[in-house]
Amino acid sequence: MSLFEDIPVDVGIIYEGERIRGRDMQIELGGPREDYKFELVRAREMDEIEDGKITIIGKDLDELDEGTNTAFGLFIEVAGEEIEKDLEGVIERRLHEYVNFIEGFMHLNQRYDIQMRLSKKSYKKGFTSLKILGEILIRLYKSELPFIEKMQVSIITDPEKVKEMYQEALEIYESRDARARGMSDDEVDVFYGCSLCQSFAPTHLCVITPQRYANCGAISWFDGNATAKVDPKGPVFEIPKGALIDAVTGEYEGVNQVIREKSLGEIERVQLYTGFGYPHTSCGCFEGCAFWIPEVDAYGVVHRNFKEKTVNGLDFVTISDLTAGGRQVDGFHGLSIEYMRSPKFMQADGGWDKVVWIPQDIMDRTKEFMPPEIIPKIATENDVSNLDELKKWLRDKNHPIVDTWKPEEAPKPIAEAQPQIMSQQMPMTGFTMPSLELPASALPIQGLPQGVNLKIILKNVKIRAEKVIIRAEKE
Ligand code: SF4
Repeated sequence: MSLFEDIPVDVGIIYEGERIRGRDMQIELGGPREDYKFELVRAREMDEIEDGKITIIGKDLDELDEGTNTAFGLFIEVAGEEIEKDLEGVIERRLHEYVNFIEGFMHLNQRYDIQMRLSKKSYKKGFTSLKILGEILIRLYKSELPFIEKMQVSIITDPEKVKEMYQEALEIYESRDARARGMSDDEVDVFYGCSLCQSFAPTHLCVITPQRYANCGAISWFDGNATAKVDPKGPVFEIPKGALIDAVTGEYEGVNQVIREKSLGEIERVQLYTGFGYPHTSCGCFEGCAFWIPEVDAYGVVHRNFKEKTVNGLDFVTISDLTAGGRQVDGFHGLSIEYMRSPKFMQADGGWDKVVWIPQDIMDRTKEFMPPEIIPKIATENDVSNLDELKKWLRDKNHPIVDTWKPEEAPKPIAEAQPQIMSQQMPMTGFTMPSLELPASALPIQGLPQGVNLKIILKNVKIRAEKVIIRAEKE
């Protein structure tokens, strides 16, 4: 039975994590094929809101062709006695949860990067208007977050209007992000944890500090601070830092304790400022990924909207698959663009001196915060297109990484730098997924960087054996 009798599809937590593939999709709202898309929540005064009002600007679902995509904006205004500006970011991020509660509706990513899909099945069941989306959101928000007393929703598919509001939204995101800049982790006693993405990555927990923005780029330390007060039982909560174990890697006793509890023992330790050893886990909502390039002994960083191949021949989707899932994967590290503006960005690995390639778009958005001397030494897609060109670029520009190479010799991949996809432990039994390790050259796959070893994990595989023979191994 549906949670809401008058809504044609079911709504509930069981639908979180539901994926809608292209062939099953009625319509895509936003997504990688659209340049302009956003979701935005604004706090208003009580008298500025007409409670329950839903406005559609542009075509509704039944006017859009099956299997297509559209520019998309979701603009929510809220008011309430306890509502303050600092809550906007977290209220906005709860869209990830609530939209995914809807049967046949999928929500990915955040802010300027959203991708939503409605399934053909739910459309045929009667989900033919975006007003239904607005109605469900108003009911869920007001029941789950009672401090929201009034709420109105505008849903925009008119491309010109989306484009106009997109620019305004970018300015608002920037002003939110700027607030935590200049603050240090040392100035606070508590960090914040967010477990919102555990429906997709059960062992993942974001640790949000003044100097490490959430992976999705949507929740700052201030946002965590505001929301933990008004929604203490929600997915964003306080983490007392506890004793500092290592200032360079960013390891704290309190963080380790919480991560152990929240990952059911799967993750033992987290070091906030490194991509190796015990790196911060990555769910799947990260804005970008740092990826280790063993051939040059350094990182590249790519973001979700980069549609070409990166300098090592892998695209964002492939790198993202290697990174996501709540695991700690050496050299593959989900992150937000705002974290790249932090003075602690990858500090244990060498910070910006260990970055050799980023897309121009990331360069434009972060260079104000990079050490000025490194800016002309980091290559973009406009400068190099493969690893040979990258090595030449780094030598020509005298990038600091070159000093760490042996003279006249390309750097050998360091053992720890080999990307390895860790086996997923089955949480309750300690059983390890069957896996095999192979050099990339043993597989008929084009475009893999040299020197990369792959671990192949076999999931949901049934193996029938007539006999199992166990022999003691001789020396
Ligand atoms: S990426 Fe992290 S902070 Fe953002 S919603 Fe997911 S768990 Fe929360």
